Amino acid sequence: MYTVMNMSKTFEKLQVHLDKIMAFETARSLFEWDDQTIAPFEAADYTSKVIGIISDEYMKALINDDVRKLLNKLKEEKEQEQLTDDEKAIVKELDKTYVQLESIPPEEYRAFNELASISNRAWAKAKKDNNYEYFAPYLKEIIEYKKKFAGYRAKKGEEPYEVLLGDFEECFKIKDLDIFFDKIKKEIVPLLKKVSQKSDTIDKSYNYLNYDIDKQRDFCRYLAGYLGFDFNKGVLGESAHPFTLQLHNHDVRITNSFIEDNLESAMFSVIHETGHALYEMNISDSITQTPVGTGASMGMHESQSRLFENIIGRSEAFWTPIYDKLVDTYPDNLKDINLEHFIKGINKAEPSLIRTEADELSYSLHIIIRYEIEKMIFSGEADVDKLPELWNKKYEEYLGLTPPTDSQGILQDTHWSYGEFGYFPSYAIGSAVASQIHAKMMEVMQFEDYLLEGNLTPIREYLKDAIHKYGATKNTNQILKDITGEEFNADYYVNYLKEKYQKLYNLK
Ligand SMILES: [Zn+2]
Repeated sequence: MYTVMNMSKTFEKLQVHLDKIMAFETARSLFEWDDQTIAPFEAADYTSKVIGIISDEYMKALINDDVRKLLNKLKEEKEQEQLTDDEKAIVKELDKTYVQLESIPPEEYRAFNELASISNRAWAKAKKDNNYEYFAPYLKEIIEYKKKFAGYRAKKGEEPYEVLLGDFEECFKIKDLDIFFDKIKKEIVPLLKKVSQKSDTIDKSYNYLNYDIDKQRDFCRYLAGYLGFDFNKGVLGESAHPFTLQLHNHDVRITNSFIEDNLESAMFSVIHETGHALYEMNISDSITQTPVGTGASMGMHESQSRLFENIIGRSEAFWTPIYDKLVDTYPDNLKDINLEHFIKGINKAEPSLIRTEADELSYSLHIIIRYEIEKMIFSGEADVDKLPELWNKKYEEYLGLTPPTDSQGILQDTHWSYGEFGYFPSYAIGSAVASQIHAKMMEVMQFEDYLLEGNLTPIREYLKDAIHKYGATKNTNQILKDITGEEFNADYYVNYLKEKYQKLYNLK
């Protein structure tokens, strides 16, 4: 079909600015990657000056009168009529950034950033010394700033916490999350109790033997490639904590980190990050290097990493074609561990204190605790000095454990120390979205057969066409609705967990 190109002159002018904005953004990302992977220890002082200048230039290119005028014009109806859908999405996304950044007076923004870096250091010290009281005054100040900043943007009657949640996931309001999390509490808390009573029936001691790191490195690289990570468009590096970072859809970088006496840690990290990477690699060329050339939201991104890590990566079908290769890599440790034993091991679940080490079943309970406390902080129901007690009470209630120290309790996560409130729910949303998508895929394709054959191409192609290529031009609920015919529905997640763990632990 032939369509008349109806290029918007105003958008063309904006494009020139966008190219510059994205170039600075890309340069900044590249330094961030370098800083966390191979930069020498003593580089920090001089390099941070370079990064500071690039960041300033980025902000100047982004927020200025020229861009503001173009943006305002492009929001007018007669201009909108001339835009393609991608261009409309870019204008919308840029406008969101403007509203966010321009709502805060620059001097307050600067003061907050300084406080955040001091507070982050105070948190690290408090965690090391197990001293919550030392951190509390900083946390109070951070919270006051976040309340104030949210207030600048809040619509009439809107709660500050609602605004913060919206920064990470626009489709989920407090009321949606309350329903979602109540469902999980009702179903998963009792299931976890039953499972933990039988946790002795699963042996996992093989996982903590000595696993040569060079061999782990090779096997993880193999896993990334097996899943479809394209080494012509991506790099696999190493850092203290695994992460994914994209410059554009032809340069996506992931990292891994290795622990000598833990076989699983690096394997499931690389599967997780590859899930993120496939998303970024599959974003369409027409929107990469634009403000919508990335995942739809934090939750949507996490759905892809968790689909690969948990639903695919911890399934028997996935390991059937490749388990022998793993045994051949470590014959001394694994020769007596058959596939069935291994599958039980990698799915073993029991309540624990630390979120980042939690298994698939108990993970969302850690998130609910943070969500409920954040909600209470921003509604004024929680006294910041008494947060450790509140935290411990909730761990006792949902996981049946009381943290022996605050370092293993309320001080374990870094997020709050620099004001990242409203982010945690994205992790749980990701797991639930993954289950909803998985349920649909089971319906429309021979999902398990493909895994058994070691043919992941149809699975990847499906995700590319249904989700990845759109980047952030659609939001989470639009994507779900287009794939499954309904918006977010947590039942799929609850059913998936129940079915999986009842089978694994012979529960009825
Ligand atoms: Zn992730």
